[in-house]
Amino acid sequence: MFEAVFAQDFLLKVLDSKNKEIGSLKVLELRGSRYILLEDVLKVFGGTTKSEPQFKRITLSLNDKKTIFTLDSPKIRVDSQEFSLTNPTIQISGKSAVSADFLTNILFVIIDRKVSIDWEEGKLKLGSEINNRNSEPIQNTSLQYDLSGFRIIIDPGHGGYDIGSKSKDGLLEKDLNLDIALRMKDIFSEKGGVEVYLTREEDKYMTPEDRISFANDLRGDVFLSIHFNWSPSQDTKGFNIFVNNDKARISLDLNSGFEPNEALSNEGLIAKSNILTKEIKDRLLNIIPTGGKCKYAPLAIMDGLFMPGVLLEVLYLSSPDDLNILSNPDFIDSLSLALCDSILSFGTKIKQQ
Ligand SMILES: [Zn+2]
Repeated sequence: MFEAVFAQDFLLKVLDSKNKEIGSLKVLELRGSRYILLEDVLKVFGGTTKSEPQFKRITLSLNDKKTIFTLDSPKIRVDSQEFSLTNPTIQISGKSAVSADFLTNILFVIIDRKVSIDWEEGKLKLGSEINNRNSEPIQNTSLQYDLSGFRIIIDPGHGGYDIGSKSKDGLLEKDLNLDIALRMKDIFSEKGGVEVYLTREEDKYMTPEDRISFANDLRGDVFLSIHFNWSPSQDTKGFNIFVNNDKARISLDLNSGFEPNEALSNEGLIAKSNILTKEIKDRLLNIIPTGGKCKYAPLAIMDGLFMPGVLLEVLYLSSPDDLNILSNPDFIDSLSLALCDSILSFGTKIKQQ
């Protein structure tokens, strides 16, 4: 049982697609984690709950879907889909409290509407209805993947004296990259089957060649290099996903907005890397409001890689807007989950080919 001491509780206003306020959710901060009360979800979105204390189980019936919460567990089931939240569902002063990432990761699956949250403004905005109810959830944290033996190589960029880029407040790229990679490893470890290797698990320098031969020696199935960006212009912002392509040396401007250039996608590795790019892009657009781009570039640091792979520049450490996103305590978790999902979904698609 947790004591109910909330230093920074606040209200999240819920707005419909026409910006009309339709209610509010109390956000409780407890030991650095955010929770919302299930009773508030009922007040705003309707539905009914059934409690089965003997199984520590609460079932929410809403929008023809059954959502099952288990006390002291981060797992949540929506009909046949299972999800995992950052924090377990708990009781606070006799009320059921759910990890706040429920709002970003699961609510849209239940109500079939897009959900976007501005934590700074304290607003949750509902989009119009998602038409295709069978459409793939954008951020499904645990589909039934069968990926036994699928080998994932995660490469946290930089390390040691090579700090990478740096924000004006002293955030170091090398630390952020490693933080995300380690969280991804944790998330993957809860999913049986896949094998995960990090090129570095500590703050040490590695040459690009070391990283590539590490991945090649392991015969990885997929490679993700994690970086953060920097620009002299404070207005440059958002994520960038790079696919290594030597031909981009000849034609430099191959940035075709969000979609990787189809003309170059015939070759096996690039085609597969494009699939991975799309998986990541679709999910990041959901959690990075400053948007992003997919690009081809000759990436010396990925030369010689024998597996599909991309280099992700998550955000610009030089952009006030991007730093604002990064200041959200849930961001790194949401990002890590989104990247794990992208890779699992990619693996499933590759296996089906
Ligand atoms: Zn970097």
